[in-house]
Amino acid sequence: MASAARLDLDGNAIKPMTICMIGAGGFIGSHLCEKLMAETMHKVLAVDVYNDKIRHLLEPATHPWSDRIQFHRINIKHDSRLEGLIKMADLTVNLAAICTPADYNTRPLDTIYSNFIDALPVVKYCSENNKRLIHFSTCEVYGKTIGSFLPKDSPLRQDPAYYLLKEDASPCIFGSIEKQRWSYACAKQLIERLIYAEGAENGLEFTIVRPFNWIGPRMDFIPGIDGPSEGVPRVLACFSNNLLRHEPLKLVDGGQSQRTFVYIKDAIEAVLLMIVS
Ligand code: NAD
Repeated sequence: MASAARLDLDGNAIKPMTICMIGAGGFIGSHLCEKLMAETMHKVLAVDVYNDKIRHLLEPATHPWSDRIQFHRINIKHDSRLEGLIKMADLTVNLAAICTPADYNTRPLDTIYSNFIDALPVVKYCSENNKRLIHFSTCEVYGKTIGSFLPKDSPLRQDPAYYLLKEDASPCIFGSIEKQRWSYACAKQLIERLIYAEGAENGLEFTIVRPFNWIGPRMDFIPGIDGPSEGVPRVLACFSNNLLRHEPLKLVDGGQSQRTFVYIKDAIEAVLLMIVS
């Protein structure tokens, strides 16, 4: 698709940018790279420890976009090349994280380090070098609704005041410290607060994205087929796994749990609008 035709919200032609995409080799990153290569003239510095989900974009080197995507195998925990890449870019998109629910209980330290500590240099380098940051957080920072604490038969459960989320006004209720499942949401919330404070005190320009379950190809893994056999993937991949093995679907909370799903291609269209606006 012709890229030069894309206009920003003011109707101006969008200038090609260089984007440092950290976590580019993951599910969302791979779809964002595909979109940027196929439909725009932006350049991507793709940072990840893995590249199997974007290898089709990197090889062969004869793709029409080959000179617009570079892969950098970097672990952002400890690599001095990170700041240089952020400096070279106009915009940084940070997708890197441990973000599989099964890990939150079993690897809470890694979860906290990955979602908070490892993101600190990214925020710092963007702020110090006056680079815009799009940071991926999670809908889990909204916590629980007040309504979930009401008795099951309470008529107040029908009152929107108890279940409607007002993004910037509803109180934020997380589980107790010993419920380690909340480590992920809490680490994500703290890095959001830090980014917000960098914006308020040091003028960092930022956008925070809080996805509800984005779904589609390359989302996850099927245990023992394209991932560790003892691993537990996200809920839809768990269902796929059950179906493949002719097992009953394991429903969260016996089927009472509710989720919101967004198809990845729709979500990526929205991310592209964030990038150019
Ligand atoms: P993903 O696990 O598929 O991708 C994350 C990528 O980050 C992986 O390729 C991983 O190798 C890389 N990474 C992790 N630590 C790294 C490090 N130290 N150095 C370099 N690379 C590293 O996850 P995703 O589904 O693409 O999610 C991306 C972001 O969006 C995450 O921050 C996640 O918390 C957030 N999010 C996603 C969803 C969803 O529905 N997919 C929902 C809520 C939040």
